[in-house]
Amino acid sequence: MITKIDHLGIAVASLDEAVPVWENLLGLKCERIEEVPSQKVRTAFFDVGGVHIELLEPTSEDSPIAKSIAARGEGVHHLAFATDDVAEQLNQAKSAGARLINETPVAGAGGKLVAFMHPKSLRGVLTEFCSDSKHS
Ligand code: ZN
Repeated sequence: MITKIDHLGIAVASLDEAVPVWENLLGLKCERIEEVPSQKVRTAFFDVGGVHIELLEPTSEDSPIAKSIAARGEGVHHLAFATDDVAEQLNQAKSAGARLINETPVAGAGGKLVAFMHPKSLRGVLTEFCSDSKHS
């Protein structure tokens, strides 16, 4: 079951350049920066009232974020829902006809399990399911 919007993922070419912009223009403070090898990204998190902004910088040219920036430029990349059971959420979406990018959950930022659903399945929105921190 989906419990909340966990975060919005934003593709950026450089965290070193993007983080100060988010801090200076919005008055937000970067909570932490973490590398996620499974997704070939470095991430920076901002807490906005319990929903997070996740800036994503590619760490290699074959990173999904590098491909996204090459195709569409920087900007909103994905919407992440927290769920009490990522695997069950995937099964539910799949049986409802969704095309999955991850058939099973993988390790994401913050020690959470994550899995992605193809944007074609949700009207152009790349969707992530991640484990609710209360349940991980
Ligand atoms: Zn994410």
